[in-house]
Amino acid sequence: MVPVSNVYIYSEPRCGMVDFEEIAGFVRRCTPGAVVRLRGPLLEEAVRRGFAAPGEADHGLLSQLAMMLAKAKVKGMDSPVPAGQSPLPGEVDYERRRLADTGKTVFGILYDAYLLSDIYRRLLDRGETGLGHVHIVFTNQLIGTWDEVDRRYHARSVLLGSPSIVSLSGMVEAPARSPGFYLARRSAEAMGLAEERKMELARSFDDDCLKHDDERMTEAAKGYAMQPVAYRLTGEAFCEEPDCRLFNAHWQRELLRAQTGGGDDFCAKHKGILCE
Ligand SMILES: [Zn+2]
Repeated sequence: MVPVSNVYIYSEPRCGMVDFEEIAGFVRRCTPGAVVRLRGPLLEEAVRRGFAAPGEADHGLLSQLAMMLAKAKVKGMDSPVPAGQSPLPGEVDYERRRLADTGKTVFGILYDAYLLSDIYRRLLDRGETGLGHVHIVFTNQLIGTWDEVDRRYHARSVLLGSPSIVSLSGMVEAPARSPGFYLARRSAEAMGLAEERKMELARSFDDDCLKHDDERMTEAAKGYAMQPVAYRLTGEAFCEEPDCRLFNAHWQRELLRAQTGGGDDFCAKHKGILCE
């Protein structure tokens, strides 16, 4: 077992309803012996620290990050992001504007999770690397991993890596909704309804699922923040127990059961490892 000495949580400023202090408090309680620090957003803080003078941004760093982000964008679900993808100038501009404005709550762009993690890794403090250090970056953008077997991208809620990424949009979009929801949507499509009416019908299908402005988001994110910590401690990704917060939910109902189901936070095995 690798002891975890430090956990760094980087918040996402564009998710006002998420209480990152509460998430950090939870991780602190569940990781005894580790120093848990809550920090501002990784990308935006790097840009801010790079300020050449008060009020004057370091355009070099901002432009560099904007270019790297645009290169990590997934443009088609059925083809992997090519190495050295050349983004359009408009796409780089878009990233630059988004980095500079944390007030905008845009979400839904899909990035290749490994390429995004590579960008984040460059911004970590070299004195804070090594197996005892766990970095967790929250984002409201979508992250996906390329699957060689079925030749398409899959959206993910979490990437376990260095650093790990937790996608708040991914928690909403990646685990599937109930089969009835997809049936209702397909029926609406078969009826040839206008897009607006289709959306209305889909929304009216009221299965219980996490929404972008869901008040349960903080509670659900606590478990996702613990997944990289448990992975580093045990070497095992996820848990087989559906009531454990480390369960790898493929369905919304599984996510809600594991994260907001009440009762114990972790299964007996993980309670013994965490929360000592
Ligand atoms: Zn467990």
